[in-house]
Amino acid sequence: MKVYISVDMEGIAGVTHGDHVKLEGPEYEKARKWMTGETNAAIEGTLEAGATEVVVADSHGHMRNLLLDELHEAAIIIQGSPRPLGMMAGIDNTFAAASFIGYHSRAGDRAGVLAHSFTGQVYNLRLNGTTVGEGGFNAAIAGHFGVPLAFVAGDDTIDAEIASLLPSTKRVIVKWAINTTAARSLTPKNAQKAIHTGIKTALTNLGNIPPLVIKRPIRLEVDLIQPLSVYSAQDIPGIKQIDNRTLTYTGADMMEINRILRLIFNAGK
Ligand SMILES: [Zn+2]
Repeated sequence: MKVYISVDMEGIAGVTHGDHVKLEGPEYEKARKWMTGETNAAIEGTLEAGATEVVVADSHGHMRNLLLDELHEAAIIIQGSPRPLGMMAGIDNTFAAASFIGYHSRAGDRAGVLAHSFTGQVYNLRLNGTTVGEGGFNAAIAGHFGVPLAFVAGDDTIDAEIASLLPSTKRVIVKWAINTTAARSLTPKNAQKAIHTGIKTALTNLGNIPPLVIKRPIRLEVDLIQPLSVYSAQDIPGIKQIDNRTLTYTGADMMEINRILRLIFNAGK
């Protein structure tokens, strides 16, 4: 059994602020230690569930956060950017399951801890009319390859987001959002224990979890915060502007949608 784990930073226990998640942040070194700790707990639980190969994708910011000298020796680690499929680099149809650690809720309507969708440009993102954040979008990338999302760890707002989209995905809450920069949190050690047990349980009951397959063709709708970003993306072939905020594109599958989304983000930089 091969298992894929994508690790973000905003949803790690103890993380509440830009000071934790930005490379130059005064508390970044502490936060990457907690991120590595939760990743190790996930790797251990995955191995105990019978995995023969664990691939970990370091998926926050510049994608070089995990402390390799402290990381469980059994994992294969994907680090650095840019890279194809971004936070889901390396996923393919040979994996039995995907898991997300340190994930956060989407931009827009939820005041989750450090909530956003990929970049600060996005207000909202929809696939065939369904609003998704990074969790939903990345689950659909895994679903493209027939890979189910088995497990998610993060705050209570990403928990709610995944619960409505993928009710059979096992979830662990490591902190509860008070607002976007404050939370009630488990200690890193207790969060690690919960992740260890949660992912192990999820992977031993994998049969029940269907992959998130988005019906093709796929209509992408992106609401951007700045009208200038909307304007700048109009040169991308196939893109249609609906109004000062919204762009749409219809693509054959998630691979095409993912490429177009990255072009939209790059155009708006
Ligand atoms: Zn993120």
